Amino acid sequence: MISGKTLVGKTAVKSRNILGRIYRCPVCGAELSVIKSGSGELKPICCNTKMIMLEAVNTVYVCSVCRSELMVIKDVEKLEPVCCNKKMNPVRNL
Ligand SMILES: [Zn+2]
Ligand SMILES: [Zn+2]
Repeated sequence: MISGKTLVGKTAVKSRNILGRIYRCPVCGAELSVIKSGSGELKPICCNTKMIMLEAVNTVYVCSVCRSELMVIKDVEKLEPVCCNKKMNPVRNL
């Protein structure tokens, strides 16, 4: 029986934390990046100020063999990370 069940969690909420999302403090310039995405609402504070969400998103690569993950901190022209002798695959965001 369906008893007023609401779809929470499974639906793509816009404010969901996205892997690789970057936030910057407008005061001191500190940056942080999400390395484990969850369904919560991330509102980082630095220097008593709300950090600004940047347009750019850091790419995360995962090794299909050992499941190691790495995050691109600084973009380069052609990055091809290899782990376990295999090319790592970029993790897709929603
Ligand atoms: Zn700061
Ligand atoms: Zn590996």
